[in-house]
Formats: sequence, C-alpha cells, structure tokens
Amino acid sequence: MGFPALGIIPSLLFLELRRASGPLVYTATMPTTKKGAKLNFTNPPKWNCEPGVGFIITDEMKKILAQPGFLTDTNGGPRLQHLYSNQSLGFRVEDLSEFGKACFLGLLKTVQYCFMTGMAPPLTNTETPYEFGYATLVVTGSQRVIRSPGFPHPEHLAVLEFLISRSLPLNVPDIVGYTAIQHCVLGDLKAYPGKEALIRKLLASGAEVDYRNRWGETALSCAIQRGDIVGIDLLMEYGASVDIPNGNGKAVRRLFLEAGATVNAAMEKWLLKRSGKDAAPMTGKCCGHCGLEQKSLKVCSGCHTVQYCSRECQRAAWSDHKKKCKPFTVSSSAKLVPFYLPEALGAMNIPQEPFRRGFVGGLAVPPVPVSHTRMSQEPKNLPPGGKQVVVKVQVPPVLKNPDGSYNHFLVYTQKRDFACLVRRVDCQKAWDAVYDVIKKQSLSGLKGYFVADLKSRDEFVVKVSELLAAQPW
Ligand SMILES: [Zn+2]
Ligand SMILES: [Zn+2]
Repeated sequence: MGFPALGIIPSLLFLELRRASGPLVYTATMPTTKKGAKLNFTNPPKWNCEPGVGFIITDEMKKILAQPGFLTDTNGGPRLQHLYSNQSLGFRVEDLSEFGKACFLGLLKTVQYCFMTGMAPPLTNTETPYEFGYATLVVTGSQRVIRSPGFPHPEHLAVLEFLISRSLPLNVPDIVGYTAIQHCVLGDLKAYPGKEALIRKLLASGAEVDYRNRWGETALSCAIQRGDIVGIDLLMEYGASVDIPNGNGKAVRRLFLEAGATVNAAMEKWLLKRSGKDAAPMTGKCCGHCGLEQKSLKVCSGCHTVQYCSRECQRAAWSDHKKKCKPFTVSSSAKLVPFYLPEALGAMNIPQEPFRRGFVGGLAVPPVPVSHTRMSQEPKNLPPGGKQVVVKVQVPPVLKNPDGSYNHFLVYTQKRDFACLVRRVDCQKAWDAVYDVIKKQSLSGLKGYFVADLKSRDEFVVKVSELLAAQPW
C-alpha cells in the first residue's frame, strides 16, 4: 500500500478527561506546618471503561443525547460529560480509516498520498461512533501523539494547513457538539506542540469561535472552566462572545469570576481592552515602555504602579509617565490596621481555583503550598521605614451580619509573606474607602489589587487612587 509506518505511544491513547460528576468524595489531607508542605486538591474521577474497546455510546448516553435543546445540570448534562470522557478511554486508533489515522498521527506525506491516489474520503465525512471530523482528528492527535524512535515526526499543523487548502470543513461537531476548536481547549492543560499555532490556524480559517456544544458552551466557556489561559487569550483575540449563556443560563461574563485569579486576570485584561479603556496599571509582567515580558521588572519608585525592564526604558517613558506618576498622599491612600488570627485557630483560606478544579471538577491541579492557605502571617524582617508591596484585598462574600457587624477583608501578598484580616471597627474610614473602590471599579466587585506601603506589623497604607490590574494570584 505504500503507507509510512504508523506509530503511537499507547499510554497517550485517551481522550477528553472532562469534568466528572457523581458523588464527590473529599479526602482532604490536613495541612502540616512543615516547611514547603503542599496541599493536594486533585480528586481524580473514577473511570471504568476498558482501554482499547473502541468508542461505545451507551444506552444511557443515547437517552441523554436524544433530549431536545441544551443539556443542563438537571437533565443529565454532568452525567453525559462523565460518560463521554469515560467511554473515550476506549479509543482505538485501529478504528480509524487509513486516512483518519494519518490525520490523527500527523503524517503529512500519507495524507498527501491519499489525495494523490484518490483514496482520501470526502472531508465532510466523520469517523468513529463519536463522529469526529478530520479537523478534530488532527487536533486530538496533536494533543496525544508524541514522537517515538523509528516513527515519523508528527506534523499536525502542516496536515491541518494542507487539509484547509483542500476545503476542510472546520465546524463539524462530534456527538456532543464539540468542534475542533473546542477540542483544542479540552485536552491536557500542558501545552501540546503547536497548540497556539493550531488554534490560530483554525480561527483564522473560519472555525466558528462561538459554536455551542450540547451543553450550550462555547469554546471560551470550556477554556475558562479548565483555566486554559493560552486558549482564553486566543479566543478573546478572535472576538469570542462573553454573553452567550450555557444550558444553565450562565454566560462567561459571570462564569469567569468564579474561575480563580489566573483566569480573572486574563479575562479582565480583555474586557477592559474591549471596552476601550486603557490597560490597568500592572497588566501582565511586561515593561511599561518596550513591552518586554520578563520576571524581574523594576517598579517606578515615584508611583509604584508602573514597571520597567531597565533604566533606559524608564527614562524613555518619563516624559509621558510623569503626568501620571503620583506618589502616596493622604488623599490617595487609606491607612489600614492588620488583624492577625492566632495560628492555633487554624483558619484557612481555601484557594478557590484548585478547589473548584481539583475537588469539585475532578481535574488534575498542581499542589498548593500550605503557606498559601494562611489567613495570617505577620511580616518578618521589615526594613526600618517599611517596604512597598502589592496586596490583594478580598471583600467578604457576606458583607454584613444580621447583628449589623461587618465581616473582614482578607489581605495578602503574592508570596503570602504578609497576610491578615482587616476589621472595619479598627479603621472604619479607610476600610470604607477601600471597599468603595473595589465595589465601583473592579470587574468582580469582590477583590482589588493595590500598591501598599507596609509600614510595620500594625499598619499598612493602601494606595486606593490606583486600582491595579487583576493579578494571576
Ligand atoms: Zn523595557
Ligand atoms: Zn511612576
């Protein structure tokens, strides 16, 4: 037949591990205070599909799928997500046609050979009981096939480009309505080779950015659930809507607020951009002049809200920046009083993002340092005169208690080398000033990032005149 050898690493032959449903068994390990200890929030879902039996659509799946309209939390939506993932473990590369195999394995020469010899099927065809279109086969293959010795190097992007030049349809939904662009943001979060280029190629060639699957979700909604920042950035760049509701009536505009700090930071940046407003101070880790992205940036010592990569850039930006470079003044700042909970109380600030994804969602999330769950950490080794830090101020979800008392702010730095509560009774005017800025100026209304002057263990001054961009922590 003249086909190049086909090769694949068997352990990579599993498809979407989507949000699992069913009873949640929480096996929280209590944190130890050991230095460097980590909390593991991953609660992997239970699968029972034998590998290599092929895609099987069970009767239960058929029944859920037969319902009209979008799937919701009450008509079997979460159950179908679990079943689809579970049954996808049965994937068998042998079930694909020779052409389908070549697409999945990224074998450009074989794909071209099929066209040359007239063996290529119509590109509107689908394969397997899951009804994967060829764009989907290329994408799912790119996420799973790695080069192994003796096998040809996978060239998924080149295959996609070639097929698009042959009028490949890009919006072919599988049985649950996932198109190729949705599959791009459903795989393992770790970027697979050429992920960004594949997404770009699909979107630039007419893949429908807002296509809705059986759950009514767009690709952006999928990317947000999984915390796929590369996907979010590209989909937003290509104009993905944030107002299309999923089957449960929730649109991305609300969903992203519950998706953790990393997703929040990515989304806020785009929403500000779309609303025509200037980027908020400290958007991303890049130089305020040349845009160079790097970890170690120097903050302008005048305002502490702009960062530069070098003295040269700071100097070059100065004529423009000096109009905006405002130092701490009485009117621009609010003096807050920290309150530290005794560690013995064991109060924990459960990090939302790994909690939702790991415990609730059943996805793999990296362990979180126990230090990140501390509600109180007195600053250590403060230089005389204090130091400037960026703090996150979290407004309590329930502001006021039935007896009229207020709940407390939770404040901390990225490294959690300073963390405390701030009680309204200790500094009412300043507390209200900070609350007002967060309520009126932040997108979430629940948290704000500020430059703060950490003067001592018992006092820090927050620069309320400048709400910083949402940070990914
Ligand atoms: Zn620079
Ligand atoms: Zn400045």
